[in-house]
Amino acid sequence: MRTFVYDFADGDKDMRDLLGGKGANLAEMTRMGLPVPPGFTITTEACRAYLKLGEAPEGLMDEVAAHLRRVEEAMGRRLGDAADPLLLSVRSGGKFSMPGMMDTILDIGLNDTTVHGLAAAGERFAWDCYRRLIAMYGATVAGVPHDDFERALAERRRTAGVTADSGLGVADLRDLVEEYRFIYLRHTGEPFPQDPRDQLTGAVLAVFRSWNTERAEVYRRAEHIPDDLGTAVNVMAMVYGNRGPSSGTGVAFTRDPATGARGVYGDYLPDAQGEDVVAGVRDTLPLHELAHLDPRSFGELTHAMDLLERRYRDLCDIEFTIEDGRLWLLQTRVGKRTAAAAFTVAAQLVDEGVIDLDEALRRVDGAGLARLMFPRFDLSGGPVPVATGVPASPGAATGRAVFDARRAAAAHGPVVLVREETNPDDLPGMIAARGILTGRGGKTSHAAVVARGMGRACVCGAPVVVDEEHRELRAGDVVVREGDLISVDGATGEIYLGELPVRPSPVAGYFDHGLDAESGPLVTAVHRLVTHADAVRRLEVRANADTPQDAARARRFGAAGIGLCRTEHMFLGERRALVERLIVAEGEQEVEEALDALLPLQRADFIGILTEMDGLPVTIRLLDPPLHEFLPSLEDLLGATSDHERKLLAAVRRLHESNPMLGLRGVRLGLVVPGLFAMQVRAIAEAAAERVRAGGDPRPEIMVPLVGDVRELSAVKAEAERVLAAVKAEAEQVPAGVNAKSGRAPTTTDTEPGLPAGGFPCVPVGTMIEVPRAALTAGEIAGEAEFFSFGTNDLTQMTWGFSRDDVEGTIFPAYMRLGILTASPFETIDRHGVGRLVELAVAEGRAARPDLTTGVCGEHGGDPASVWFFHETDLDYVSCSPFRVPVARLEAGRAAL
Ligand code: ADP
Ligand code: MG
Ligand code: MG
Repeated sequence: MRTFVYDFADGDKDMRDLLGGKGANLAEMTRMGLPVPPGFTITTEACRAYLKLGEAPEGLMDEVAAHLRRVEEAMGRRLGDAADPLLLSVRSGGKFSMPGMMDTILDIGLNDTTVHGLAAAGERFAWDCYRRLIAMYGATVAGVPHDDFERALAERRRTAGVTADSGLGVADLRDLVEEYRFIYLRHTGEPFPQDPRDQLTGAVLAVFRSWNTERAEVYRRAEHIPDDLGTAVNVMAMVYGNRGPSSGTGVAFTRDPATGARGVYGDYLPDAQGEDVVAGVRDTLPLHELAHLDPRSFGELTHAMDLLERRYRDLCDIEFTIEDGRLWLLQTRVGKRTAAAAFTVAAQLVDEGVIDLDEALRRVDGAGLARLMFPRFDLSGGPVPVATGVPASPGAATGRAVFDARRAAAAHGPVVLVREETNPDDLPGMIAARGILTGRGGKTSHAAVVARGMGRACVCGAPVVVDEEHRELRAGDVVVREGDLISVDGATGEIYLGELPVRPSPVAGYFDHGLDAESGPLVTAVHRLVTHADAVRRLEVRANADTPQDAARARRFGAAGIGLCRTEHMFLGERRALVERLIVAEGEQEVEEALDALLPLQRADFIGILTEMDGLPVTIRLLDPPLHEFLPSLEDLLGATSDHERKLLAAVRRLHESNPMLGLRGVRLGLVVPGLFAMQVRAIAEAAAERVRAGGDPRPEIMVPLVGDVRELSAVKAEAERVLAAVKAEAEQVPAGVNAKSGRAPTTTDTEPGLPAGGFPCVPVGTMIEVPRAALTAGEIAGEAEFFSFGTNDLTQMTWGFSRDDVEGTIFPAYMRLGILTASPFETIDRHGVGRLVELAVAEGRAARPDLTTGVCGEHGGDPASVWFFHETDLDYVSCSPFRVPVARLEAGRAAL
């Protein structure tokens, strides 16, 4: 027969799957000889069986009865004994800690008879326990509204003329028990169960059911805890901290959970039961005062803390109770801690020789590091947010609200860009803004993706009215007008009026300038662990950067190059006019003139970036987005009068697409608009030549977007190689005019001294793999491509057939609720679908070209779970926004352990 019940003496800390975290740790403490009240654990398997069958699996309650007898023997008390009753606690505890999400019922075993037996230990105490039991049992087992009990209690306090429950006397509590029983009867149609065994069965089954309460489900979804694990149930003898001054209850931490500093941390409350500590009924004492109140128990407790730290090799937290000078441990676990404490504790434990650096690295994570890098608002003044939206990109930003991107870009001083939603047109404003706030969209909306990429604070989908026309935002009766100061917290989604003080992040400062004399224990710990991650990781980490400033930051943050340099941002702002010229150009001559005007600007862009990234690869993507994105909107042109405007209008109409993301963009653009890619390649090549001439070591790579068939790539590559050869020849000072291919006037470089032969860098040409067909024909494509870079944003969009900008608010929330998705595939790579395409393309690409370089650019490159997948898939690098580079370094190291 299967065993559904384990005595505490029969389990250990590694049995969390079966016994839950709390049960496994109670077993471990029992095994270590620490004073744990006797008890047993009903397995998660029994819970799963119950939830499936709708009734207790066969034999379960018999097993419970057998184990109960052992508890009774150990305690020398019996359940239901009128003179000296054993009472029990029935506590939930799943594999992963879900604080406060499921139910615990204390004082099982009290009834109209046993309450008198318990009263021998204190009358008030006994009646107080009884009324608590009826309320707890009523609410969790029988579904009586908790508020009904609370109301009766409040009314009783009022008639007794006291403010705290502790002011109620024996007579009050007796009357309350009477009332509670009546409330119970009224709601359930049955009297409060008097048989302690019925109480026990009812409580155990209720804890099973509490796995499926809505709040538990919501919590699991947020924490990515699977829904099918079930909870274990711990049944243990009650011990009493409320038996007078030599009793009490408390919590202890082996280290400070906020900073990780060693010492005796915690709270103690004399003459109290467990919940009183958290309920804040009375002021607790700092734990070290227990040393004076009860030196023997204190000594025992600190000894137990030492043993537990050594056993778990980590910070532990402990719940304990002292009954008449006798210490009991009720719970321990590896303590939850802030991200800062996670790093400092891990480093301290290394110094103490408790764990090695590998283990320390396992104990921290990229999500925590990301949190440590963002500045935070100082909320000590207790400000109240006016609204809370989706926390889309962490960071704390204060600025004047501006409701238009152009005005934001032109504004002086810090601004927060407020829009109903954003589009690529808003980019200059987004770059200029400290923070971005939108009334629509979620974590993968345009605003969110761009903001994360740039490290801007962003709150999306806020429950406010954004009135762009009247330049105001309304949240309830609060109105924010253009120019008013607001503060947005992208880590919490909160929006505040006015300016809040911020604290810069010392961790981000460290990545910017390195260690210095000011570096405290946290920064030192981060330094050690990231450095260790660098030593063990196999994945290289590059950054996505489009400007020299971003490139420089990426380099400081530890990027080994640029994995994605987008060129579209270089066509915005004042250069738009030049792009318009290109689009409306008629005849070869005009096209050429338009391209010639763009060439020197592009060249200067690339010189700046190659200078910052000297000696490191810079993967430059040829123009990707649909051309019409660079044109004004139809409405703006409707009253067109000038010749130029009329041409623009015609171009807007001509280029209109019903599905632009699947239309004229990427490599298609390069093949349909003659000369465009050639101009970009020339700009790259001339920039490289210029850098070599200046003594630099430029390493540009040319990346062709949106390829689906090898012939698309072949055509672009052939053209690129012609241009590269031409520029190389020019640079090596082949006499001017030989450059018949480009047919272009000699460039300025022709007049400067030539490069030594071989000085011009070899520029690899590769492709993005972002169309499913490219992944499926990767073997053929690798015949031409010298590298693959997985564009997992588009690859996800096209593999799922999800329009990224449209699924956020509607489809995804429903899919999360239905359990079809547990995470957005745009945030964390979908291993089973999109991931298989990546695996296939890597395998077939490498088979065709063994030295093929493979990487990934796009949002997933900085997502911890995705980094692990790319490590397992054996890619060469991930590329992510500069701010995510340290996170990716850390996670790549952890994945390699
Ligand atoms: P949670 O998981 O929400 O912390 P617990 O199962 O730990 O819930 O129970 C809450 C509190 O109930 C404990 O902190 C402890 O103070 C009290 N408690 C639980 N079991 C006992 C017991 N056997 N004796 C005395 N108090 C108990
Ligand atoms: Mg607890
Ligand atoms: Mg793409």
